[in-house]
Amino acid sequence: MNIALIAHDKKKDDLVRFVLAYQGIFEKHTLFGTGTTGSRIMEATGLEVERFQSGPLGGDQEIGAMIAKNKMDIVFFFRDPLTAQPHEPDVTALVRLCDVYSVPLATNMGTAEVLIKGLERGDIEWRNILNQNR
Ligand code: PGA
Repeated sequence: MNIALIAHDKKKDDLVRFVLAYQGIFEKHTLFGTGTTGSRIMEATGLEVERFQSGPLGGDQEIGAMIAKNKMDIVFFFRDPLTAQPHEPDVTALVRLCDVYSVPLATNMGTAEVLIKGLERGDIEWRNILNQNR
């Protein structure tokens, strides 16, 4: 499945640790990320991450475009709720598109744990049925 990885600056360490902890699951899938997050994950894990622009420069919108084309199956988006983001409209738009297309989305570590375990257990296999047409 295609998985998007995005983290705001103060959450990047958390997302890197999360991907390291579940590397055995992530390596079975195709990973995409915003620019800096993608680089951090590649450096830490050696996994291949297809990188888009940095979030504030349009990366969130690029991932949103993949969602709109039914090309993204899961989104891990570790948001920082305590820091104002210059690209807040893009953040809102990305979350909105996940809801429009029923794409599983984790915005914090607690939900991410559930989502990654569900992925491994096959709970998200319904995405593969949708994907037959892509
Ligand atoms: P970044 O973008 O990975 O390039 O930092 C993430 C974001 O802030 O949306």
